[in-house]
Amino acid sequence: MAIEDFDVVVAGGGPAGSTLAALTAMRGHKVLVLEKERFPRYQIGESLLPSTVHGVCRLLGLTEELAEAGFTVKRGGTFRWGATPEPWTFSFSVSPHISGPTSFAYQVERSRFDELLLNNARRKGAEVREECAVTEVIEGEEGRAAGVRYTTADGAEHEVRAQFVVDASGNRSRLHSKVGGERKYSDFFRSLALFGYFEGGKRLAAPNSGNILSVAFDSGWFWYIPLSPTLTSVGAVVRRELAEKIQGDREKAMTALIAECPLISEYLADATRVTSGPYGELRIRKDYSYHQTSFWRPGMILIGDAACFVDPVFSSGVHLATYSGLLAARSINSVLSGDLDEKAALTEFEARYRREYGVFYEFLVSFYEMHRDEESYFWQAKKVTRNNHTELESFVDLVGGVSSGEQALTSSTSGRLRSRSAEFAAAVEEVAASDDGNMVPMFKSTVVKQVMAEGGQVQMRAMLGQDAEPEVPLFPGGLVASPDGMSWQPYRPA
Ligand code: FAD
Repeated sequence: MAIEDFDVVVAGGGPAGSTLAALTAMRGHKVLVLEKERFPRYQIGESLLPSTVHGVCRLLGLTEELAEAGFTVKRGGTFRWGATPEPWTFSFSVSPHISGPTSFAYQVERSRFDELLLNNARRKGAEVREECAVTEVIEGEEGRAAGVRYTTADGAEHEVRAQFVVDASGNRSRLHSKVGGERKYSDFFRSLALFGYFEGGKRLAAPNSGNILSVAFDSGWFWYIPLSPTLTSVGAVVRRELAEKIQGDREKAMTALIAECPLISEYLADATRVTSGPYGELRIRKDYSYHQTSFWRPGMILIGDAACFVDPVFSSGVHLATYSGLLAARSINSVLSGDLDEKAALTEFEARYRREYGVFYEFLVSFYEMHRDEESYFWQAKKVTRNNHTELESFVDLVGGVSSGEQALTSSTSGRLRSRSAEFAAAVEEVAASDDGNMVPMFKSTVVKQVMAEGGQVQMRAMLGQDAEPEVPLFPGGLVASPDGMSWQPYRPA
């Protein structure tokens, strides 16, 4: 059989892969997506952030289709977390980065959302082949990846060549190691999640009825995500030592965990667990945080969960997946058009992606540090003070020197994390204590500002295009997005 040639071959048609495929196909490149499953397929990760909806999805031309899909509108997150006994709310509309009509996201059934993105990649010109599992990266000359081998449902083996091989095959990727380096796990975040679906659960009062509700309890924390007026995704994140307990009888384990958490028990008091169809199973996933020490080598790029993952408490997974798809697409578009060399374009991709991952990593460490529970093993293990400083510090340093400017001001990474967390906790207490729910103090805290900043920038560029304020590089000597947001260009100060 003749070997086919493409500009780009993508392993995996999840949010990362389909974003990259669409954005490179829109520039006229010949793109192939190989997806192991047939869509729609189940996936966890249902709570989105605004930058995915109003930034990347707008660039993808999906704004109207998303609005018509009828997904639950998410105005923010409501948390029973930290020192205050009453739940407090983080609302996107107060963020200075994304205020206005785009200050919301969606709660999505991933089977529908992912299919919409993959079909869009097709419409934009990418060829998509489902039930095709990539098995191997083909090596070219001088250490360059040159294509992939894949197997179709009938067991037949195929080979395609491409200038760029993109691994977007998720957390269980079998290709990621081919980029070089290693996958490093963070000890701090090693937990397990047990999750299922319920019909008839209670809703938060309007206007927060579409919010994600996150509730800390002794053994960990719960997510409670309203996917429709009646369907709710409910998951418990617990310490990994409970693995045996939750794997034995999942139903019993779920019932016992719910009983441990009064607020979730109250919300599920009149609900019944879905026991048939794609939502009928109680599933378990490790939610260990990790990152590959390299995100690219000549001819090969990692995006989405294949590259890195950070704890799910702030719904960053799909944001990092689609954001990395956008960054890598800009780099590929710039190289294939002959405007930039590969090293310059992919160094920008990796620096930005690593930085965004690092921003969320630090935010989440602060978020856990803020919760006060002196007795519980789960919460003790999530304290910066109780952790192996060397491990945590070297991980934070590895993920990318998030705030190198400020780093010099504090004696150590853990010192910085603790002071950030204290600042954030104080802001949350101020918000919780205010009569009118004024959230401004929260958006003034360093970690929150950082975590919203780059997403806000992507959103701005997608909405305003040529009219957006000129960007400045994120790193000295770095590149900036082109006015249409689809490639990189050198920075030219006005
Ligand atoms: P995936 O969505 O995993 O897609 C990868 C695709 O590659 C799949 O379709 C797979 O079939 C395909 N594939 C795999 N191997 C091959 C192969 N060899 N060849 C071809 N195709 C292949 N994120 C959020 O944003 N919000 C949340 O609320 C949230 N909650 C989470 C809760 C838990 C417990 C966990 C563990 C994660 C959560 N996430 C959440 C994270 C989210 O699930 C992921 O970050 C997101 O799905 C990553 O997208 P992706 O495109 O990189 O990978």
